[in-house]
Amino acid sequence: MRGTMADKRDYYEVLGVEKTAAPDAIKSAYRRLALKFHPDKNPGDKAAEEKFKEAAEAYEVLSDADKRAAYDRHGHAAVGGGGTHFRNAEDIFGAFRDIFDGDLFSSFFGGGGGGRRSDRGADVGARVEITFQEMADGVTKTVAVRRRDACGTCRGTGSRDGKAPVACRTCAGRGVVRRSLGFVAVQQECPTCGGAGTTVSSPCGDCGGEGLKAARVDVAVAIPAGIEDRMAVRVPGQGEASSRGGARGDLIVEVAVGEHPLFHRDGPNLVVEVPAPISTAALGGELEVPSLSGVIGVKVPPGTAPGRRLRVRGEGLPRLDRGGRGDLDVIIVLDLPESPSRRVREALETLRAAEKDDVGPTRKRYGDLLRDHRREAEKKKAKK
Ligand SMILES: [Zn+2]
Ligand SMILES: [Zn+2]
Repeated sequence: MRGTMADKRDYYEVLGVEKTAAPDAIKSAYRRLALKFHPDKNPGDKAAEEKFKEAAEAYEVLSDADKRAAYDRHGHAAVGGGGTHFRNAEDIFGAFRDIFDGDLFSSFFGGGGGGRRSDRGADVGARVEITFQEMADGVTKTVAVRRRDACGTCRGTGSRDGKAPVACRTCAGRGVVRRSLGFVAVQQECPTCGGAGTTVSSPCGDCGGEGLKAARVDVAVAIPAGIEDRMAVRVPGQGEASSRGGARGDLIVEVAVGEHPLFHRDGPNLVVEVPAPISTAALGGELEVPSLSGVIGVKVPPGTAPGRRLRVRGEGLPRLDRGGRGDLDVIIVLDLPESPSRRVREALETLRAAEKDDVGPTRKRYGDLLRDHRREAEKKKAKK
């Protein structure tokens, strides 16, 4: 067991829900915690920030049916175990957009001063597929991104005549309007300015006054070695341009990792099944085993039972969280031929004859226990 896993709290405990909790209960528990420990509400409070991240990590796993099932069966090891990949609150917002952008929840955050939408451009998502070997080595991929860039005609101002935008009349520059629904007043994005808070008197014909135009660009994305399937890489400043003079949003690239014909992965460890001849498993010897850099020799001790794991230290995948590499786990599979050649058959028949006379300690102990068991069963039968 790796050290980091032992310190980790149970995800259900983190969210304060039962193991049987329904998805809705998990979602609302997470919302409550995210609200309580949000960094904006607890400036400079490291403990709150850790709780905020911990809750996000727990929610990420428990909100995904597959990950939750894996976690229920195998614990933290099943879901990457080695700590959260979220670096900050922005990452978490990127990952759980549906929660943070939904309804009134978002109004608790960010919007503080008058409720105007952030000046920052929107984040955009993309997806890239890499091979297992690329994942192991790390790779830079060119990703085609659809996003909105500043309109070239008006240079992003949205104004045909170059006049500066003025405060929107509908919302008086606030970007939001209030509507009452029965007893409750709700805030909505201003329909006139789309939340910008400003309008232009003579809108640019190419972008309709928004200052943004659809674009398709290629972005080089560096993917760190050891990344896990379905993790995302955030590329700052490669999202959409801002129509309000703010910074660009980020590009968030989900990475799909292909399969390998020989290797599986278990967190940072590589797992490979290697068939051993009967004689090697019985007498010991050396097997050729694939590693990420080529082929290495692995010693098999005498009397190696099938299913045994031989661990080669440091020949696994790069660890994302704390440097170094995982291990290579070699699982021994016994190569039992269904129709052996005549030579092999003869050798095995010779072995069969020898094994009848030479009984090793394991079979001897089993034989004793079996004899006792038979005696007990016969006694019981005799009593009836
Ligand atoms: Zn324009
Ligand atoms: Zn407005």
